[in-house]
Amino acid sequence: MQEARVIIGVMTNSGEPAIWETGGGYTKTGKAVIVASAEGRKKVPVYIRKRGRLANSDHALIPVKVGDVVIFADHHNEDFCIEVFKIKKISDPILKSQFVVSPDTELVFLISVDKIHFFDFGQWDKRGEPSNTMMAAVNAAKEKALCYHCREPHWVRKEEDHV
Ligand SMILES: [Zn+2]
Repeated sequence: MQEARVIIGVMTNSGEPAIWETGGGYTKTGKAVIVASAEGRKKVPVYIRKRGRLANSDHALIPVKVGDVVIFADHHNEDFCIEVFKIKKISDPILKSQFVVSPDTELVFLISVDKIHFFDFGQWDKRGEPSNTMMAAVNAAKEKALCYHCREPHWVRKEEDHV
């Protein structure tokens, strides 16, 4: 009952695989991608963007490992579609130009994920509802997708915070 998919992960300057927290809301629609730990908790980003065009764009670069969770939320007039994926495998670095037009030297990771929760048509499907902890991350993804011209991360942990 699992649907596999591959997400392209970027490489941090130190060579780790990472995924951007990205997105925000428009007038009637919106979408967001957020990253969480296996339990749905906030992770520490390596970078938070403060310059350039920030509205509904990439906000925080979050290193990921196998077991972490990536949440995609998308809405139209607050009618949400939500996909929660668990990272199953991360490839060795590969050249992005092997599969899309890209500068020759850009290295990326292929991140294989399985869908673990899916919300559409107003309800969670038979994979079941996320746990309370995971639901907090899902709610953060929804809030980000509703956050008009979002300019900041919604689900990241500050280095000094306790877990
Ligand atoms: Zn926001």
